[in-house]
This record gives sequence, C-alpha cells and structure tokens, in this order.
Amino acid sequence: MKNKLIGTKLVHCGRDRELSSDFINIPPYRGSTVLFDSVEDMFYRENRKAQGEYETTYGTDGGPTHQALFKAFCELEGGYRAWAYSTGLAGCVMPILALTACGDHILVTDSVYGPVRSFCEKTLTRFGVEVEFYDPLIAGGIESLFRSNTKLVYMESPGTHSFEVQDVPAIAAAARRHGIRTMIDNTWATPLYFRPMEHGVDIVVHALTKYIGGHSDILMAIATCNEETWPAVRDTSNQLGQLVGADDAYLALRGLHTLKPRLEYQSRSAREIIAWLKEQPLVERIHWPADEDDPGYSIWKRDFSGASSLFAITFKDEVSDEQIRDFASSLKVFGRGYSWGGFESLVCLSYGKRECSSNFKMNKSVRIAIGLEDTEDLIEDLKTGFETMLRTPL
Ligand SMILES: *Cc1c(COP(=O)(O)O)cnc(C)c1O
Repeated sequence: MKNKLIGTKLVHCGRDRELSSDFINIPPYRGSTVLFDSVEDMFYRENRKAQGEYETTYGTDGGPTHQALFKAFCELEGGYRAWAYSTGLAGCVMPILALTACGDHILVTDSVYGPVRSFCEKTLTRFGVEVEFYDPLIAGGIESLFRSNTKLVYMESPGTHSFEVQDVPAIAAAARRHGIRTMIDNTWATPLYFRPMEHGVDIVVHALTKYIGGHSDILMAIATCNEETWPAVRDTSNQLGQLVGADDAYLALRGLHTLKPRLEYQSRSAREIIAWLKEQPLVERIHWPADEDDPGYSIWKRDFSGASSLFAITFKDEVSDEQIRDFASSLKVFGRGYSWGGFESLVCLSYGKRECSSNFKMNKSVRIAIGLEDTEDLIEDLKTGFETMLRTPL
C-alpha cells in the first residue's frame, strides 16, 4: 500500500495485535519490576537499552503501552525516538535541560507558554544558562542573535495566547547552519495539522493534556526527538526519573485515534463562530491564523494543513476591564477554565508577560477554546455575553 494519509495513520498508529492479544487496543501494562530468565538475559537487555533501543529492564523504562505511544509519535512526526512526561510542562522543560549547560545561551520565543518562561527565568538562570527572549516574528533574522555559545532555539507556533505564527522553516534552517538545536511546542496544531520535523526542527513537544488526550482527564507530554538529540533527552529524562503511568499513556493513545474527526469538527465550528464574532461591534479583531485577515495567515497557509479551535478575541479599546469580566462570567455553555483541547468549550482572560514589543493587547483579550457542543448553542451563549457587557455602560 502507498504511504498512508495522516488520518489513517492516526487510527492505525501504535497498535500491535501481539501485545493486545488480538484486541484492538494495547491495554495499560502497569508495572515496576521486570523478571529475567537469567543473568545473561539481564545483560543482553541492558545492552540493547544502552544501544538506544526501547527495552524494559525496569518500570522507569516504560512498558509496552508507553512504547506503543512513542512509536506512534515517531511515525506521525517523522521522529527517531520519543519520551513521555507526567505534565505538558515537564515535556517542554526537560529537552531544554538536556541540551544546555552552565555558560550556554538559549533563545526562547517571547510568545512562549508562561510556565516555560518562568522555568527559563528562574531555574535555568540559577544553573548559569543565559536566556534571551526573541520576537516570535523574527524569522530568519534570528541569525543576528546567535552567539558562539548559543545552544538552542525554542519555538511555539502559534503562541497560545497571542497567536503569532513563526517562520519555523527559516528559523530551523538558520539554526542548522550554525549547529544550534531547535525545539518547538506544537500543542496548538497537533501532528494532524503541522509536522515541524519536516521543516528541520530537532525536537517536537506536545502537551497531550490538550487535543490529543481530548477529554480533560490527563496531564501529559510527549517529546519526539531526531537521532542527534535523542541520547541527551533520554539520559536527562531517565536521570530525573521522568515518565507517566501506563493508564495515562493508554488514554493518550486512545485519544490519538479519534483526533482527526474531533479536531475537524472543532475547527469548522471555530471558523463559523469567528465569522460571527467578527461582525460584533465590540470586537476589534480575532487572532486565529486560519482567518484570512490574520497577519499570520500566509505563513500558516504555507506550512500548516489545518487549524485547531483555540483563538483569541481582542475587544475595542473603549471596552472596560469590567465589561470583559462580565462577558466571561456570564457564559453558560462555555466553561471558565485554564487549559483547552477537551470536548468542552472554555473561555479564559488572556494573560502573560512580554519582553519584546507586541501588537497583542493582552488586557483587552479573551481566549476561547471551541469544544464539541453544537455551534448554534455556542453562538447563542456568546450573544448573551455581549448583551451582558452592554448592560454596563461603556
Ligand atoms: C497546556 C500547555 C502546556 C503544558 O501542559 P500541562 O499539561 O498543563 O502542563 C504546554 N504548552 C502549551 C502550549 C500548553 O497550552
């Protein structure tokens, strides 16, 4: 059969009838201790592990369920090996730790997920790594920021509060010319809509907590590495005792198989809702790269094959903070909560810190995650939100 398309890959990936006793799903294999036939068997399997193979000599290596998940992501992303972490955040920071040492310099997009910024500012600097935040729209201009001790460029595209789309191929190519490693937080797009390794990125991280888990019931990340970065990421992750339980690995795999229809529905629903929102008089603009009016549209169209359902509304300047709070508090179908990517639609006031100049008006914006409800009900709910705002005079 010719190369499978991504939707088919999502359904088939990570499955193995031998491991699942001919059932469709590989069960969650829980376990700490592994038994060996002989000391020779112990040596043999330790040796295979040392060669970089997935081999379980103890529970911290992950068992068959974990390996199924790792293999699934390597197939989807075009990676060499992957590792899973007990929160999305852990998966973002662990490769940074793996690839840097005291005296190094790293470049981190200014649009980065807030807790990763905190890790860089507080923990990394404590260990003597110099962190510089760069304008997410810098593209190939990143080259002018490289120093002799620059080790890593960290990307997130689009940023999940301010939604700038980065020129990932240009940044990856510049870094490669200088022997600098690159990694990206690809949570917004998922492997369904963007595959950064095809554009030269070394490590791709996903918070599986979001669309891939898809049901707001797991916290987890996966970092997929190429052959060059894998040994360092594996060693640091092992040394810091990083892994997830088999039950969570099982849920992530299960979520992965239904990703395409969920995301396609959510994306279509987001598009309809955005078209409606753009007509509302209190709305200044919408931040969603798949919208033709968005400044990130051309790069998004060039590199991505779709858009997920997380976006932001920026209200007009005359809208007060109190009105924005009233809007978010009045919604009944949307929940109020951090996170996104589950079946429920959510709203959250935008927040975050910036160092480089940015056009994103953080304190006038609200982030919206579209879930799996009927679109008409969501629009009706938003309509009530706008009516509530207007009850407070401008
Ligand atoms: C949520 C999120 C994370 C972290 O995931 P947690 O499981 O909540 O720690 C990382 N990156 C992005 C872009 C996220 O939205």
